[in-house]
Parts: sequence; C-alpha cells; structure tokens
Amino acid sequence: MKLQFEKNVDLLPHNTFGISAIAKEFVRIDKSAHVEEALEYLRKTKINHLVLGGGSNILFTQNVDALVLQNRLFGIELEKEDDMHVYVRVAAGENWHNFVLHCIRNKWAGVENLSLIPGCVGASPMQNIGAYGVEMSSVLNYVEAVNIHTSERHTFSLSDCELGYRESIFKRKEKGNWFITHVGFKLNKRPVFHIEYGAIADELDKMEIDTLSIKHISQAVIAIRSSKLPDPKILGNAGSFFKNPTVDLSVLRAIQEHDEKVPFYPVDENTVKIPAGYMIEHAGWKGKRAGNCGVHEKQALVLVNYGGATGHEIFTLSTAVMTDVKNKYGIELEREVNVW
Ligand code: FAD
Ligand code: NAP
Repeated sequence: MKLQFEKNVDLLPHNTFGISAIAKEFVRIDKSAHVEEALEYLRKTKINHLVLGGGSNILFTQNVDALVLQNRLFGIELEKEDDMHVYVRVAAGENWHNFVLHCIRNKWAGVENLSLIPGCVGASPMQNIGAYGVEMSSVLNYVEAVNIHTSERHTFSLSDCELGYRESIFKRKEKGNWFITHVGFKLNKRPVFHIEYGAIADELDKMEIDTLSIKHISQAVIAIRSSKLPDPKILGNAGSFFKNPTVDLSVLRAIQEHDEKVPFYPVDENTVKIPAGYMIEHAGWKGKRAGNCGVHEKQALVLVNYGGATGHEIFTLSTAVMTDVKNKYGIELEREVNVW
C-alpha cells in the first residue's frame, strides 16, 4: 500500500502530556521500505520533519509546522546466542515495556530495571533511557538508522552512539538527522542483579522472596512506579521533566552550608549527583498548581497537565521552577524533555 500523508493532524492522542498541537502533515511508517519513500517526499516538499515514537518525552509548545513521521515498525528477532548472551534485533516501533516483558518471559536479563518506561524501542537510545541504576548503555549492541537527508542506511555501534546520562549523539551532534529503524541488544543469560536503589530493596523485602529473579525485580519496579508516578492516561505528563544535575563537590559543600540534609550520590571522585526533585520540593514547588498544569504531588520532577494546559503554559511553569531552584541552590536545572 502507498503511504498515506494526512494534513492538519492534531497530535493530542500522540503525546503523553495530552497537548493539542496541529501537525502540518502526518504519516505512519509501518514498513522499513516506507522510510525512504517518506524521506523522498520530505526532500521534494522541502518541509521540516519530526520523528515520533510514543510521544512520552516531548512537549509541544506550538503547532508542528512539519511532516510528522510516526514510527510503527514492529518485530523482535533473535539473531544469535552463545553461553553467556543473546543478541536480539528489535524494530523501533515496538513498545518498550512489551519488549521488557518479552525478555523476562525468555529469561533474558538486563532490562528488568527498565520496566514500565513508556514509549518505543526506537527512542530508547535517544536519551539512553535509565532507571534504578541501569541504563540502556549496558545492553545496547547497535542502532540501525536511515539518514533523513540522504536516505543512507547506517549502523551505529555502541561507542558511536556516545551515550551519557540521558544523552546520546542523536540528541546532540546528530539531532534530527536520523530515523532509527532497529535497535540491537546484547542481553545476559546469567543475570546480574541491580538492587542498590533503596526503593527496590524495600519493595523486594515486602515481597518476601526466596530466590531472586529478574521477574521479581521487574515486579518490584512496576509496583514502585505504579504507586509513585502519574499514569499519563489519567494525568498528562512526560516523566521527569528535568535531569538530575551532576555538580562539583565544591557546589555540594556550598549547599550543605545552608541545607545539611541535601541528598547526593557520588558520580566520581570530584562530582556528585543531586536529585532535582529534592531541590524543586524545597524550593516550594511540590504539588503546586499553576492554572491547568502543575508539579506532581508525589514526584516533584514530574510536571503534569491537569487538562487543557497548553505546551506554552507547561514550558512557562518549567522556567519558573528553574528560576527558583537557581535562586535557592545556585544550580541551573536542565530540561530532559524534548521541547518543540
Ligand atoms: P518520543 O517522545 O516519541 O520521542 C522522544 C525523542 O526521540 C524525540 O526527539 C523524537 O524525535 C525522537 N525519536 C523517537 N523515535 C525515534 C526514532 N525512531 N528515530 C529517531 N528519533 C526518534 N525515561 C527514562 O529514561 N527513564 C524513565 O524511567 C522514564 N520514565 C518515564 C515515566 C513516565 C510516566 C513517562 C511519561 C515518561 C518516562 N520517561 C522515562 C521518558 C520516556 O518514556 C522515554 O524517554 C522514552 O524512551 C521515550 O520514548 P517515545 O517513543 O515516547 O519517544
Ligand atoms: P528516587 O528514588 O526518588 O531518587 C531520586 C533521584 O536520586 C533519582 O532520580 C536517582 O537518580 C537518584 N538516586 C536514588 N538512589 C540512588 C542510588 N542508590 N544511586 C545513585 N542515584 C540514586 O527516584 P524516582 O524519581 O522515584 O525515580 C526512580 C528511578 O526511575 C530513577 O532512576 C529515575 O531516573 C527513573 N525515572 C526516570 C524518569 C524519566 O522520565 N527520566 C521518570 C521516572 C523515573 P537517577 O535519575 O540518575 O537514577
């Protein structure tokens, strides 16, 4: 079937903030060969573009004067295995959490801590998704992508992706240049458990487990997340709006002079990570509402849409939060969510 280009499509059902924004054009890509066809159309019409997965890490502050390429490529393929690992190739449109459950059913370890993260597999390398002490970087093997401008197909190795804390080459130098079609994973047959985050250990204690498995970890993560994070189907949000800042020890020392309880986690000898949620809460923002949006009552890192908020309103709220944190702690927060 030929590609269907729709005009003036409201993206409200396609982003978890539940923001209305009109896309000039919209096309659903459900076959790999369709990527080139859509890119040819882009070059011919010379309009801008936006690749969209599940829309769970994006804030629309205006209409989208572009062609939205909605990634709907499906398929999970076992490439090979050896004594220690399985190598899996996953199409970019697969739902991330369904993929995690697939791994758990097959006893493939490595992604269990990343249970219940919304969105698609194709977006997972974009910000090197992470939770509870595990990042995508520990299981990524390669990324297959098509160059938006030339239609060249290219495979990025793990090191090519330049993954960092909620960062990658696709969010920085190569921003907007690639349509990711597949992600290759290297998963473990022998699990290495990561339960150092306090909440997981507490939840596992409650579960009274005899022999720990990746399924238990996944269940613990699901339980914690379900109790703490707003479900986007009920309350629009895009998860953590801000990154947790990594700062020099001298910055921490200066903060401790007026707030000795400030939590921190060592990153290396000279730097520490300070939870942004703590600073936002202590700057008075936790649970605070501003018009149709606000800061979530249980998790101050999450901005929420109570219904009818515009992206501009949420962006303005994020700026106010950043200003107050800067004034109280001297730290410039950085937005994690992609802003259009
Ligand atoms: P989208 O929002 O559709 O896109 C995000 C960015 O990636 C955009 O810039 C888009 O252009 C680009 N993109 C998407 N797909 C492709 C592709 N195929 N090719 C090229 N570019 C592409 N994130 C975490 O890291 N850890 C968490 O624990 C976490 N928890 C969350 C909890 C909640 C309740 C919510 C709502 C969000 C959470 N997130 C978390 C953020 C988000 O779910 C992830 O970043 C997720 O990977 C985004 O996937 P998506 O398909 O929705 O991406
Ligand atoms: P939390 O347990 O309240 O802790 C607050 C922050 O402190 C976390 O974000 C985490 O940073 C850091 N932290 C806690 N324990 C740590 C440890 N043992 N070692 C190092 N750092 C530690 O966090 P939360 O908000 O409920 O989130 C739990 C996990 O899910 C976190 O990893 C978080 O990143 C992830 N999450 C991400 C999103 C998103 O949209 N990006 C949304 C919800 C949850 P890190 O964030 O660096 O891990």
